[in-house]
Amino acid sequence: MLNLRRLVKVYPGPVTALQGVSLDIPGGMFGLLGPNGAGKSTLMKIVAGVLEPTSGEVLLDGENVTAHPEKLWATLGYLPQDFGFYPHLTGEAMLTYLLELKGVESPQGTKHLATELLERVNLLSAAKRKVKDYSGGMRQRLGIAQAIAGDPKLMIVDEPTAGLDPEERHRFYRILAELAENRTVILSTHIVEDVAVLCPRFAVIRQGQLVSITTPADARGGLAGTIFEGAVSGPELDDLRRTRRVTQAYLVEGRNRVRVYQPDRIAPPGLAPAEATLEDAYLVTMQQGDATGRVA
Ligand code: ADP
Ligand code: MG
Repeated sequence: MLNLRRLVKVYPGPVTALQGVSLDIPGGMFGLLGPNGAGKSTLMKIVAGVLEPTSGEVLLDGENVTAHPEKLWATLGYLPQDFGFYPHLTGEAMLTYLLELKGVESPQGTKHLATELLERVNLLSAAKRKVKDYSGGMRQRLGIAQAIAGDPKLMIVDEPTAGLDPEERHRFYRILAELAENRTVILSTHIVEDVAVLCPRFAVIRQGQLVSITTPADARGGLAGTIFEGAVSGPELDDLRRTRRVTQAYLVEGRNRVRVYQPDRIAPPGLAPAEATLEDAYLVTMQQGDATGRVA
C-alpha cells in the first residue's frame, strides 16, 4: 500500500503544482487522470523519489520514503514522461547501459538480463537495431524494459501512451495489464481510454488538487439518466452550447453529434437518452469539480 499525505509542491516562480494531495493507492493498476499542467508528472516524480516535495510525505508499506528515497529505489520501476533515448545505440546496448546505471545485478550478467527483458517486452527481434529507427511504441516498450528490471513491486509510468498509434497502444496496454497482476502500477494519463481499458480505480487531478477518487463503474453510474445524445445542425449546436451543459460535440460522417449532461434528467428537445461513458464522467468532473466520485 502506498499512502500520499498532504503533498504540496511549489516550484520557483512561484508555481503551486500540488496543493495538498492525499491519496491511498492499493495494489494493482491505479490511474491518475488529468489535463496537461494538472500536476501529474510532479506527483509521479515525488512518488518516484526524484523530486522533493515542499511538504507532505509518501509512505510505502508504512515506511516514509520521502525522507529516505534510497529505500524506495531498489523496489521501484519508473518510466518518466520525458524518458531519454540514445538514438545511435542499439536497443540492446541502450538497455544494457541503463541497467548498469540503475545498478541492477543478475547472476548471468547484465547482457543476459537485457536479452531476457527485451524478450518480455517483445523487442528481441529488434535488439540489434538502432533506437532512432524504433517506432514510438517500441521506444516505450524499451522504457518499460528498464523499469521492470529488478522486478520492482512499485511501478510508476508517466503518460506512456501519448503519441502511440492505436495498434501500438493496445499492445502496450497488454504489457501494462500483465505488470499490474502482481504489483502496484501508477499510470498517469490525459487519455480517458487508458483508464477505461486498464484501471479498476483512478483519481482525477486538476490544478494540483484531486477532484475525484473513484472506479470507472461508479463514475459512469453517477451519471445514469443524465446524458442525452443526438445529431444536430451547426446553429442547434451553438444554441445547445449556450443553454445546456455540452460534454462532447463531434462529427460522425461529417455531421454534428452532441452529448449533453442534463442533471434534471429531462431530455432536451431532439436528443435521446444515452448510456454514460467514462469520457462523459471525466468531462463533467472537469467542468464542475466532482459529479461522479467522492471528493478527496
Ligand atoms: P502534468 O504532468 O499534469 O502536465 P506537471 O506536473 O508537469 O503537470 O506541471 C504542473 C504545473 O507545474 C504546471 O503549471 C507546470 O508549468 C509547472 N511546472 C512543472 N515543472 C516545473 C518547473 N521545473 N518549474 C516551474 N514550474 C514547473
Ligand atoms: Mg506530465
